[in-house]
Amino acid sequence: MAKTKPGKKDLDSYSIKGTNKIVRPGDCVLMRPSDSDKPPYVARVEKIESDHRNNVKVRVRWYYRPEESIGGRRQFHGAKELFLSDHYDVQSAHTIEGKCIVHSFKNYTKLENVGAEDYFCRFEYKAATGGFTPDRVAVYCKCEMPYNPDDLMVQCEGCKDWFHPSCMGMTIEEAKKLEHFLCSDCSSDDDAKRSLNAFPVSPSVEAKVGTLALLCVYVLLFHFVYESLRSRSNFYSDNLIICIRWLVQ
Ligand SMILES: [Zn+2]
Ligand SMILES: [Zn+2]
Repeated sequence: MAKTKPGKKDLDSYSIKGTNKIVRPGDCVLMRPSDSDKPPYVARVEKIESDHRNNVKVRVRWYYRPEESIGGRRQFHGAKELFLSDHYDVQSAHTIEGKCIVHSFKNYTKLENVGAEDYFCRFEYKAATGGFTPDRVAVYCKCEMPYNPDDLMVQCEGCKDWFHPSCMGMTIEEAKKLEHFLCSDCSSDDDAKRSLNAFPVSPSVEAKVGTLALLCVYVLLFHFVYESLRSRSNFYSDNLIICIRWLVQ
């Protein structure tokens, strides 16, 4: 066998054995576990290099599955969720058995179909301490849980919060059939608003305006009658004076 140059050499890519798939730095890969019962390890390839014997090695940054983390899998962790760890390693490229895509959480939730190769990551993970970045995440529903993209949630048209059908006393089938959804808080608010609207605020104002108008009519009528009586009394009194004068004469 021809002797190769000693020393390490950076490679731009590596072809996965028995496939036409090419791995480049930055790609995410599935790596064969030592225990074949376990699912493949997931890693991000940082660097590909060949050593003086032409063995291809990959420097990887491991993704942890929730069950591999110190805190373990929690209810809000998705089936395809991974944590980008601070744990780096150098592995033989031979252990790479396939490629995968680790999506951002947002992009993952937009996928129409989640394939076997699709994963998502929303947390970075410190392997030594079990700490997560970010250490806080938005929570939803009455149960105040972070969003698990595997679970169906329905959005309330009132407060725009998302809810688990089960937490709202619904089955998933019932939730899927819903065209409109208001959570219990917003539907009770809605009832309060409706009863407020039903409360006759405007009609009472109209009634007051009506009473006032009627009062004006009465005043005008009274004024008119009074004036006409007064003028008539003037008329009578004038005529009376004329009559008296006539009688006196
Ligand atoms: Zn809930
Ligand atoms: Zn609501």
